[in-house]
Amino acid sequence: MTAPSRPQREATSRRRFLAAAGTAAAVPTAALIGVGPLAGTARAAIPGGLPDYAPIPPGALGPALNADGYFVGNINGDLYWVTDSVYQAMFLTTRDGVVLVDAPPTIGQNLLRAIGAVTRANGRPANITHLVYSHSHADHIGASSLLGDDMVRIGHSECRRLLLRDGDPNRPAPTVTFDDHYVLEVGGERLLLDYRGPNHTPDNLFIYAPDHQTLMVVDVIFPGWVPFKNLAVSQDIPDWISAQDVAMGYQWQTLVGGHLGRLGQRADGDLQIAYVADLLASARATMASLDPAPFFAKYGNNSWAIFKAYLDAAAAEVAGPVIAKYLGRLAAADVFTADNAYVMFEALRVDYGMLGPFGDHP
Ligand SMILES: [Zn+2]
Repeated sequence: MTAPSRPQREATSRRRFLAAAGTAAAVPTAALIGVGPLAGTARAAIPGGLPDYAPIPPGALGPALNADGYFVGNINGDLYWVTDSVYQAMFLTTRDGVVLVDAPPTIGQNLLRAIGAVTRANGRPANITHLVYSHSHADHIGASSLLGDDMVRIGHSECRRLLLRDGDPNRPAPTVTFDDHYVLEVGGERLLLDYRGPNHTPDNLFIYAPDHQTLMVVDVIFPGWVPFKNLAVSQDIPDWISAQDVAMGYQWQTLVGGHLGRLGQRADGDLQIAYVADLLASARATMASLDPAPFFAKYGNNSWAIFKAYLDAAAAEVAGPVIAKYLGRLAAADVFTADNAYVMFEALRVDYGMLGPFGDHP
């Protein structure tokens, strides 16, 4: 079954566009994702031009992509990963068929090409018997409808509730669900699916392959890079911060983070935890030092203008020393740290209760 909502013409032009963009091997196409209709068309220049950013540290980039626009690699034994340098999926080849975790649309049909290439080489069956949803988000599982109907779909019970609500034909709700823990054993292979509470989403899973010393957890740790905008657009910031430590509590040597072009090592987790802790410390310092008086004086009865200008100024002040410390150590520190700082400052107010100028009236 093909996805009904994607016109073939657009898919073809997008594929050509991404292939052209991919000619610079291993250069992430993140900036290009989601602009399919731009392919082959000229658009008026953005006033002032597009901003420049610092070069990406080479260590943040992954392996070169093949001509089809993907890389598939072995992690250990029968465990593999596939990437388009922006998104990642993971799969096990078992005696009875393939267990796939996630189906990101940007990898799309290349999931089937990658699985075909690996199973032709190792002689294992290529049919996908089980599909695990890391969480409900379409950018990680929206290609699941490309894979056919003949598989067991597994996810958290909250994932099922969210997908029944969304009614997206590209994301059929999982039929096998659980609340806390689920052991998936297929053809001599084993995955442990753990729910450890809400973080990035209310349904996000820790997917652990103990026999391969590998953990997959998506949108929590971004190896080599700062977290995506707004601390990975996470719905619960304190629990998202804790989820980093939960991840480190597993015995793994390899992390599949769901994003970007390479796998993670334990040092990547430690470095991100330090970055996030520095953001929180900088937010506390800014809350104590930033004088709110000029914002009240200028905007008077426009309460939202007071908030906007104060919070924007706070985010810039929070981000400054963090960008300076991590530029060159974490890719795109100059791209998303201000957005991450904004969300951290807001979490400091509403989650941690440090309200600054908007606290108890004297
Ligand atoms: Zn997500």
